Amino acid sequence: MGKRLLLLGGGHAHMTVMHDIPEFLSRGHDVTVVGPSAFHYYSGMGPGMLGGTYDPDDIRFCVRDQVQGRGGRFVTDRALRIDAHKQIVHLASGEKLLYDVLSCNTGSYVPSAALGEPGEDIFSVKPIENLLKGRQRVKELLLVKDARIGVVGGGPAGLEVAGNLWGLAQRLGARKPQIQIFAGKHFLGSRPEKVRSLARKSLRSRGIEIIEQGYARNVRSGCVELEDGSSWDMDIIFMAVGVKPSSLFADSGLPVGRDGGLLVTDRLHSVDYANIFGGGDCISFAPYPLDKVGVYAVRENPVLKHNLMAALEGGEMIPFDPGKEYLLIFNLGNGKGIFWKNGWVFHGAWAFWLKDYIDRKFMRRFKAS
Ligand SMILES: Cc1cc2nc3c(=O)[nH]c(=O)nc-3n(C[C@H](O)[C@H](O)[C@H](O)COP(=O)(O)OP(=O)(O)OC[C@H]3O[C@@H](n4cnc5c(N)ncnc54)[C@H](O)[C@@H]3O)c2cc1C
Repeated sequence: MGKRLLLLGGGHAHMTVMHDIPEFLSRGHDVTVVGPSAFHYYSGMGPGMLGGTYDPDDIRFCVRDQVQGRGGRFVTDRALRIDAHKQIVHLASGEKLLYDVLSCNTGSYVPSAALGEPGEDIFSVKPIENLLKGRQRVKELLLVKDARIGVVGGGPAGLEVAGNLWGLAQRLGARKPQIQIFAGKHFLGSRPEKVRSLARKSLRSRGIEIIEQGYARNVRSGCVELEDGSSWDMDIIFMAVGVKPSSLFADSGLPVGRDGGLLVTDRLHSVDYANIFGGGDCISFAPYPLDKVGVYAVRENPVLKHNLMAALEGGEMIPFDPGKEYLLIFNLGNGKGIFWKNGWVFHGAWAFWLKDYIDRKFMRRFKAS
């Protein structure tokens, strides 16, 4: 007899399952996908969209249309709580959805609230939709002034966002913003020295300042305050202080890892519930911690698809092997990139060309219905 498969979030880790909805239906199962928006944005191209290299349509999927077009049900809503005993998910609207097998791909968010209340002209780099709003606001500001733009966070997202804000200003050709990255104490702290020095050189050659005199302790509209007591006036601020899973799993009383993500085995199901799965940024992989990068979410696709079918039909599950080193290419916003894999580091236009090629190919693959 057919069962109910419920997917929370139509993110990177659910692409294959969503693509193969007809196969689940043909075996008699129901498939429902819940997501807060009809669209899912591909984060790897988010900074490029901020800088104007891409239009919003280039970097987003209409998950709702894809799910419905393949015969599934799409519910525009947000999961608030999972009742694992009763096998019910409670949604923000008050609706309750029953499941036999549940899979979570609810991503992560930027924990900016710890640094102050959300305010006007402060944009977190996730969800990626915020970068679109930020782009619009920067355009408005640059029409009337040489805006001061602060990027709080000195990791890869901070680097890409700052570089692409510069790219946006170049494209508009109007005014010259003053861009400052508040990078804590070490810009790109955990990256190899060669990556750091290439990134610094690229930013500095464009007048982007990297401030490494301490972490931000308070961010409010128009101002960034650092732990050394200094205070910096800003017209607009982008928050790129890392990401963490939402409190959905802890709020539901499910076992979570140190970062609050759903704690899963190497079969990608909860350590306590073999019918609750997860992939992407929202999980804590019990065997060892995984970086919050889209690469893992993408690699998890076939395993999730296989194991969800196995959970529905009683087959054998397969383990997820995260693999060894992964390729990262940072988009510097000036048509160049930094390529980094297995200790190999290169900088140049071809690195961005390669990233653009890979990213567009990914979009073509999953946009096709
Ligand atoms: C600026 C930036 C650039 C990046 N660039 C790269 C890169 O080049 N390469 C790389 O590998 N990684 C990159 N990353 C990391 C990458 O964003 C994440 O690792 C990736 O998005 C994880 O995919 P995901 O599907 O788990 O989460 P997400 O992409 O966040 O998707 C989660 C989905 O779940 C939905 N959702 C959220 N909450 C709920 C809820 N309660 N109920 C239902 N649905 C919900 C969301 O709307 C969203 O559609 C970047 C991150 C940022 C911030």
